[in-house]
Amino acid sequence: MATFSVRFLGCKVSHTDAHDVRELLLAEGHEERAYDAGADVAVVNTCCVTNEAVRKSRQAATRAARSHRRVYVTGCAANLRDAFAGLPDNVEVVGRPSEETPAFVAADIGRLGCVQADARLERVRAFVKIQDGCSFSCNFCVIPLVRGVSRSRSASAVLAEVQRRVAQGHREIVLTGINLGCYRDRAAGYKLPRLVREVGAVPGLARLRLSSIEVNHVDSELVSALRETPTIGRHLHVPLQSGADSVLRDMARRYTAATYLRKLEPLEDFNLTTDAIVGFPSETDAAFERTLDVIETARISKVHVFPYSPRPGTVTAAHDTVPPQVKKERSARLRGLSDAACLMRWRQKIGTRDVVLVDRPGRGYGDDYSPWLVDAPIGELVDVRGAAVSEEGIRAA
Ligand code: SF4
Repeated sequence: MATFSVRFLGCKVSHTDAHDVRELLLAEGHEERAYDAGADVAVVNTCCVTNEAVRKSRQAATRAARSHRRVYVTGCAANLRDAFAGLPDNVEVVGRPSEETPAFVAADIGRLGCVQADARLERVRAFVKIQDGCSFSCNFCVIPLVRGVSRSRSASAVLAEVQRRVAQGHREIVLTGINLGCYRDRAAGYKLPRLVREVGAVPGLARLRLSSIEVNHVDSELVSALRETPTIGRHLHVPLQSGADSVLRDMARRYTAATYLRKLEPLEDFNLTTDAIVGFPSETDAAFERTLDVIETARISKVHVFPYSPRPGTVTAAHDTVPPQVKKERSARLRGLSDAACLMRWRQKIGTRDVVLVDRPGRGYGDDYSPWLVDAPIGELVDVRGAAVSEEGIRAA
């Protein structure tokens, strides 16, 4: 038996991939330790969405190599040529598709008998991957190069995993993928809306969410599935990237700002969050102002801001024309807008009721994924009324 610890950097898909490795290592009898508690083996599931993400991934692998006998570097950046060149000999870079990675790592560590065949990984929330890869090719994005084309799990495998997670005691499921709207199980006749309806109806499930969805996939069928599935939380993360049509075109995003706004209209009561890239090569001051406008008009409550950095192998790899200081200023303005919008949404909850799923001591999330401060046992759904707002969330009466 080996002791191991797992860390991930980046998005929810990276989180899910890291969990897949954890689950297999636990199932095979290895013992998990807290990441900084020291272990034989470390698994670092990496991210390459920006230069900064690669730098942090490299730093995490280097640190892990000092305190672990063996380090496996997995995930997106592991598939990026040369990102980990020159690291110590005890670091193994596993540049494989995500589906193959857990088995490869487990086989390398050595199979030592089944001790915890059904390890429960998180207490309240489980991330279930339904799809991986992307067949689009946005001009700035390295993901299709490191994760490959879109492919989906069968609906029966997804439903079986959700049932298993619920039986383990998870109350909330988050369906994850790189491009969730591309979900297809052609043989069984499933697209995302049908999967949402059926996952949402699994007995015992309290809450269901989607990790993120491209705006082109927000159609009437999906909106109906979201509205008619009682377990669905009223939150949707829909990447905008830019509010200027000229920039969207240069990014090859395949929608306009007007389309983005129109598609989200039927979800006006949802808590909408987004991603935006700041400092894309053709982003002028006016184009950036457009991004601020669209985010305000769409009533986005939180923006994940990504200062643009050219990624190897992409169409815009050789272009980085916006000065760093301008990127910094625009990022700060956008984050300021996001913080103000978030606070406004929280304030609107004062005096209103919500149902909170408690996921940590003293904390939980409401129906629309707003954070609440509430005193109740972990895993319980509690009826609350907003009393005040602090920097950390809405305080329940
Ligand atoms: S949709 Fe575009 S940004 Fe998203 S993963 Fe695919 S290529 Fe990247």
